[in-house]
Amino acid sequence: MIQTIGILGGGQLGRMMAFAAKAMGYKIIVLDPNLNCPTNKIADKQIVANYNNIDAAKELYNCCDVITYEFENVDLNVANILEVKLPQTSRLLEITQNRILEKQEIKNGGLKTVHYEIVNNANTLENFKHKYFQNPTQAIIKSAIGGYDGKSQFKIKSIKDFEKFEQESYDENIQYIIEDFIEFEKEISVVVCRNKNKQVAIFPIAENIHKNQILQQSIVPARVNNAIHEKAIQLAEHLANHLNLIGTIAIELFVYNDELIVNELAPRPHNSGHYTLNACLTSQFEQHIRAICNLPLRDTSLVSPCVMLNILGEDNYLLNTDNIKEFAYHFYEKEVARVGRKMGHINIIKNSVEECLTLSSKLINLNKLN
Ligand code: AMP
Repeated sequence: MIQTIGILGGGQLGRMMAFAAKAMGYKIIVLDPNLNCPTNKIADKQIVANYNNIDAAKELYNCCDVITYEFENVDLNVANILEVKLPQTSRLLEITQNRILEKQEIKNGGLKTVHYEIVNNANTLENFKHKYFQNPTQAIIKSAIGGYDGKSQFKIKSIKDFEKFEQESYDENIQYIIEDFIEFEKEISVVVCRNKNKQVAIFPIAENIHKNQILQQSIVPARVNNAIHEKAIQLAEHLANHLNLIGTIAIELFVYNDELIVNELAPRPHNSGHYTLNACLTSQFEQHIRAICNLPLRDTSLVSPCVMLNILGEDNYLLNTDNIKEFAYHFYEKEVARVGRKMGHINIIKNSVEECLTLSSKLINLNKLN
């Protein structure tokens, strides 16, 4: 019987997983190098250590019945050591840590990705520059490993950008991909959970608005036609089965010419699923805990339209006002606010998406009044 759950990573996702697990009666042990991490305040115990600390990983293994990760930059050696108690598997981690492996796996599953090419010894940056001179289009260079929220990504709109990247950022020891820039119609995402008994549960589709490549708002239900809703749900079920998923994946999609193109996968609950905390019968965090503990998955139905608004470090003015008190707000207890750092989020629940959006615009515009 599972009594204690270990969480690798003590950020806001670990914290919200811990809240859900504690409500279900489980004990939580979190491993994170920062003693003041958001999950520390909720967990029964923290092992303070780096993610590549083998002794700490063994301690976690010995204390817990099942282990989960809340982010994909967990050390692979550590994940391998924990494998027996890690239903999400180190293989899924390996795939989602590396954009090249991830895109290959998406294609193996018969799904579409944006056209990309790999920069390596055979296909050097110099070659790409040469090609770019001949056919200058918009592109994005992304490091294969280690980027999130737009980090380690470089938009290329002209040969000048290419040269800037080459001079200021390019590191020949790092693998990159060069991806076509897509003028997508919308960005949407779908969170799907699956347990060992192969039961699949899919959350309603979210429409995502990014600012500076960081998620600003999720709008649910996504304002896309029924055919796109259906396609996204079928794609999520297909990918979850293809990956033999146990746990949760979030699939980020571009809607482009009425087709769905997979941009990225996250092997865990996701920021674009935070709306489920207040707008669905079951939250993505509870469902994730259920999936890794092989409990029956619960109903994911949407109870009300919702807009989720992220509060970043620069939005701290929102925390200091009473304006958010009428909404469901969730703070992560992070001690230092930095620009672009996710400090909390608000779920705005109203009768229609339009009403939710009117309120979220008011909150966003408060900034301009301050
Ligand atoms: P990613 O880290 O790959 O999820 O990228 C962060 C954000 O950058 C995405 O959510 C998009 O808004 C934007 N983006 C990434 N790749 C592309 C692309 N190939 N074309 C257009 N926008 C992109």
